[in-house]
Amino acid sequence: MTWQPDSWQQKPAVQQPAYPDAAALGHALDELRTLPPLVTSWEVEALRNQLAEAEAGKRFVLQGGDCAESFADCRAEIITNRLKVLLQMSLVLVHGMQTRVTRIGRFAGQYAKPRSADSETRNGVTLPAYRGDIVNAPEFTPEARIPDPRRLLRGHMHSAMTINFVRGLIDGGFADLHHPEYWDLAWAKRSPLATEYQLRVDTIGNSLRFMERLAGTDLHEFNRIDFHTSHEALVLWYEQAQTRQVPRKPGWYNLSTHFPWIGMRTADLDGAHVEYCRGIRNPIGVKIGPSITDDWLLGLCRTLNPDNEAGRLVLIHRMGAGKIADHLPRLIECVKKAGHRALWICDPMHGNTQTLASGVKTRRFDDIASEVRQAFAIHADCGSRLGGVHLELTGEDVTECLGGARDLSEKDLERAYRSQVDPRLNYEQALELSLQMASSRGV
Ligand code: PEP
Ligand code: MN
Repeated sequence: MTWQPDSWQQKPAVQQPAYPDAAALGHALDELRTLPPLVTSWEVEALRNQLAEAEAGKRFVLQGGDCAESFADCRAEIITNRLKVLLQMSLVLVHGMQTRVTRIGRFAGQYAKPRSADSETRNGVTLPAYRGDIVNAPEFTPEARIPDPRRLLRGHMHSAMTINFVRGLIDGGFADLHHPEYWDLAWAKRSPLATEYQLRVDTIGNSLRFMERLAGTDLHEFNRIDFHTSHEALVLWYEQAQTRQVPRKPGWYNLSTHFPWIGMRTADLDGAHVEYCRGIRNPIGVKIGPSITDDWLLGLCRTLNPDNEAGRLVLIHRMGAGKIADHLPRLIECVKKAGHRALWICDPMHGNTQTLASGVKTRRFDDIASEVRQAFAIHADCGSRLGGVHLELTGEDVTECLGGARDLSEKDLERAYRSQVDPRLNYEQALELSLQMASSRGV
């Protein structure tokens, strides 16, 4: 079948909103198609090159952000805090793993969520499930849960505001390695990890000043740190409307984000999401869980990266701490044997979600850390390399995951559980994970 931006419409498309008004959807998409893109093809190509370097073992990828962004959280403080955590973590990784780090935010477009059930029942009332702010609203009322196509435009607008602010901060010097104090979170000073982090920051500062004295000049390369955006390519109407051709380059780009990924629930080989993603030039991620078979994975590699290009395909495994050892070795072996190129990233979040007796969804820090540790070891044993991690985290002082340096308990989850969807690592837990990765140098 020849690929077109709309050829996905010929395939079964799961997890799509059931819009009640086709004309309203048409109007929203017409408008979306005329709006300027959020990223450029040059940036997309630059990220592809960085991912190719990561595949070659010369970089490590840190991908992270909220499970789902919300329109209400499109606020300066929240965006800045998330950036601060990612910058602090990447600093720790650069230092500990002695490698360059590519930062990819799960932000500026992470507004759509796949759900395990189409509807939700509370106190005998059944309503459509909340599918992310780009589709409907989380309040449990019939009006809030009706999919509204105007939200596609609001999603684009909020993504644009987020990316504009992130670019402004970075271009303005916020991400300058000479000033890591800009990234300090006020309340984090009392953290049990503060001393270890500060030690690393001081060491990096000293090395930087030493190198600058040697070079007799400022190392401008370190003044600017780049950031990339990513989101799950889920609502295909939205993705299609942002799929553009650019002058003097062949092919089509999704210019709503640098790096779209296919979620585990939509990774069917014959499904609409794989069909859409196979035709765009962006690097593509695909989440793989314990149910993936060798043939299915090989099919994804062939379909999503038919020319076997470096930097094109990212396999994001999310098995769970108790299952990774049973599945990852066979998957690494079969991809290697078939000669497919891919970058391997570990998502230690989604295989470790559990629901407590109280009904609250959580994850244990120890399970998350264990899955990352095992991932490094399994790749090394199989002669492969873990090229990055994919995390759900926030810069806010939330209590959604259990454990970590402050050993958060089930009781603590009542204090500041804010996620509408999956539980995120808070600042301290995220930093702790990166300190663990750094001190083990990834093995
Ligand atoms: C997610 O990344 O939020 C998600 C739903 O992941 P997965 O597709 O791996 O379940
Ligand atoms: Mn999630």
